Amino acid sequence: MDILVKNALIVDGSGRSAYKADVAVADGRIVDIGSIDAECETVIDADGKYLFPGFIDSHSHTDVGIFDPEWNHQRIVQGITTEITGHCGPSPAPNCPENLQLLRRIYFELTGTGREFDWPYHDFAGWLKAVGEQKLYENYSFFVGHGTIRANVMGGSKSPATDEEIERMKALLDESLSQGARGMSFGLSFFPGAYADYRELRELAKVVKKHGGIIAAHRRGEGGNACEAVEEMLSIARDTGVRMNISHVKAVGRSNWGKAALILEMIEKGIGEGLDLSLGAYPYTGGYTQLFQIFPISVWGEGPKAMSAQFSDPVKRKEIVDRLTDGTYDEIVMTDGGADGIQIIQCPDARFDRKTLGMISRETGELPAECAIRLIEKFGAERTMMFQFIQNRAEMESVITYPRTMIISDGTPSSGHGHPRYMGAFSEVLDHFVKESKMLSLEEAVKKMTSMPAERYGLTGRGLIAKGAHADMVIVDWDNFKCMCTYDEPLGPSQGIDYVFLNGKIAARGGVSTLAGVGEIV
Ligand SMILES: [Zn+2]
Repeated sequence: MDILVKNALIVDGSGRSAYKADVAVADGRIVDIGSIDAECETVIDADGKYLFPGFIDSHSHTDVGIFDPEWNHQRIVQGITTEITGHCGPSPAPNCPENLQLLRRIYFELTGTGREFDWPYHDFAGWLKAVGEQKLYENYSFFVGHGTIRANVMGGSKSPATDEEIERMKALLDESLSQGARGMSFGLSFFPGAYADYRELRELAKVVKKHGGIIAAHRRGEGGNACEAVEEMLSIARDTGVRMNISHVKAVGRSNWGKAALILEMIEKGIGEGLDLSLGAYPYTGGYTQLFQIFPISVWGEGPKAMSAQFSDPVKRKEIVDRLTDGTYDEIVMTDGGADGIQIIQCPDARFDRKTLGMISRETGELPAECAIRLIEKFGAERTMMFQFIQNRAEMESVITYPRTMIISDGTPSSGHGHPRYMGAFSEVLDHFVKESKMLSLEEAVKKMTSMPAERYGLTGRGLIAKGAHADMVIVDWDNFKCMCTYDEPLGPSQGIDYVFLNGKIAARGGVSTLAGVGEIV
């Protein structure tokens, strides 16, 4: 026996009520649960504390952050022991040499200020090999991105795929899934996924189905077209039988508030008719992305250079500003006073940093859209970031508490001021939804973070405190537990997470990573 945890209140991840017991760990596994009296070198008295399975973040954007020494050991202290990454369309593999520059642009556009990282491989196996050669501080699993598959075959083309192009995409997807990708992620509001038509998506979904994989769907929109975009995903599930996860369910923009409830109804109905559906959500009303994403894809879809050319043309510029202001661009949330919900972050100029577009507009006397263009021109398209406060709080809470919802972070490692969800999403649910407001029971909340994603994504032997399971576990001192991550201080380590165990080893103690590096590709 390697570790004996005594007297813990076990919330086992299945949803059953907490119970008191001892847990014995040997060779990376839970070997016994009950009243255990045995000699053991490491005995931890957890009297009065909870023991949970390690949290599973089934939707993050860590990807190349695995190679970042500043970041790769940080998230374990939140109790996250497994991450599934490669979401929303881009992935770091596969990459064909001819389109490498474009593929890197697509990837780093979504992951924001992610560090530069060479891609010294071409296929998915090469990517997994590069990851496997690193010291891993968590377990990781990976999706292959549809946008990446498309750009490998079609470059930056905005045309519908031909039969021949679809065949080549299918072959590349087939290869990636054979080499270990857990499924395919869509990013259909981003470049270049947005240019895929239904036929392309359906044909690729058939390949995922063949492999028993799953599609993680970032849809064509979450605003005016939120429901139609979900309907398209349900059609793909219906037409192909593929397992489908609706990623980060929300309704953005005031005029669309209320649609998240409709989406939940659609999912419920779909499940009723036999579709294999699931969903995830993060517990914040604010999103985090590049400021230029307030414009439609026709403005930024071809990259920063083409975007700046449009801004430099006075006629085009006026048209963009006018359309954003009058609400013609449907996916945009600048209407209904939304400019006050867009907060500029990471701006090197203190006059603008942490201010909303509405505030800057009132100070400068220029329209919010014009202010946004000026900021992008001055500080660069990739580096001008925003928090977008675009969801209704009560609606977000109703999605999080919906019984089928899995908790995700959707977080990105950021070398600048990032979103609190990366270091705080799981603690925020436990603190806000369980401890403070009692909207969820502790058992339900833990289930949403552990056994539900483990089951959905086929992470065998994880997500439960059970005999024979991998010993990924968290000990929490509930009386002293507190989420410390906020929009102003996004990195605060949660208080009260005493121990995190990963594959049977102590991976964090007292809120500090032990740098054990015993994570695995799962
Ligand atoms: Zn997404």
